[in-house]
Amino acid sequence: MKIEQITVIGAGTMGNGIAHVCAQFGYKVNLVDVSETALDKAITTITKNLDRQLQKGSITEETKNLTLANITKNTDLKTAENSDIVIEAASENFNIKEKIFQQLDTICKPETILASNTSSISITRIAACTNRPEKVIGMHFMNPVPVMKLVEIIKGYSTDKATTETIVTLTKQLQKTPIEANDFPGFVANRILMPMINEAIYTLNEGVSGVAEIDQIMKLGMAHPMGPLQLADFIGLDVCLSILNVLYEGFGLPKYAPCPLLVNMVTAKHLGIKTGKGFYNYSGGTKELVVSSNFS
Ligand code: NAD
Repeated sequence: MKIEQITVIGAGTMGNGIAHVCAQFGYKVNLVDVSETALDKAITTITKNLDRQLQKGSITEETKNLTLANITKNTDLKTAENSDIVIEAASENFNIKEKIFQQLDTICKPETILASNTSSISITRIAACTNRPEKVIGMHFMNPVPVMKLVEIIKGYSTDKATTETIVTLTKQLQKTPIEANDFPGFVANRILMPMINEAIYTLNEGVSGVAEIDQIMKLGMAHPMGPLQLADFIGLDVCLSILNVLYEGFGLPKYAPCPLLVNMVTAKHLGIKTGKGFYNYSGGTKELVVSSNFS
């Protein structure tokens, strides 16, 4: 299958990174979001990240310009009509994804592959919103997309071999490593990662240790490049909560119950980097520890 145009839906943390790499490797990218502000912010972020690559010497000025020229932004989903592949990276909420996939199924050509970057929502359930379940697949990029090599490829119950092969080939063309998994709650990456982050939040909530200490213990003791609480801020606490809820509902086991502190922080809109405050404070442009009565 010849791939020329890719629509990326959602221009947030992940969508801008996915648009960036697809455009960098020569695809025409149609970036769609319901929010003009998110689209403008995405272009600013992509430009900043391209400048960083340029400074490091990993791309040329010409690649930077071509990448930016390959991206168009839109608020109307109908602009996906000529795309060969759609990669959905909208908010981690089944109702939002259900609507998007139902609409895409009527807008896109019958041969178009519909991929989701969901962290945990069942691909089989998303596929069932369409009349082309064999062409629906999970394409789970890691954050930050331009840097991280892994793409977890999730095969839904009905995903066919040709769809998987096309997405595996595309992933390699984006110079990433595809690894296949079957469709179970949290797939592989988040089934293992999220309970660790949740346990770190429980550890903090129970006063076993502080934010910086927990992160340092995991960095120095387990050679993790980033502590679990900082990583949670980086991923987005709302995204972490959504994934834990999927694991909790999907397996029905108490070990996946989200920590009440995480629930409170999301309710208070302390979502991490994207709102400037989470376990750390980012509003001044640098990371500072949040010291409050909840955790010291
Ligand atoms: P985000 O909150 O940063 O961005 C989501 C974007 O989707 C927002 O800009 C929002 O305006 C847009 N949106 C919402 N409804 C829409 C609609 N109907 N049509 C078009 N755009 C819409 O979220 P994110 O962190 O980028 O996560 C996006 C997806 O990627 C989620 O499924 C998430 O689970 C997954 N994911 C996230 C991470 C991470 O580290 N944040 C990692 C891997 C996968």
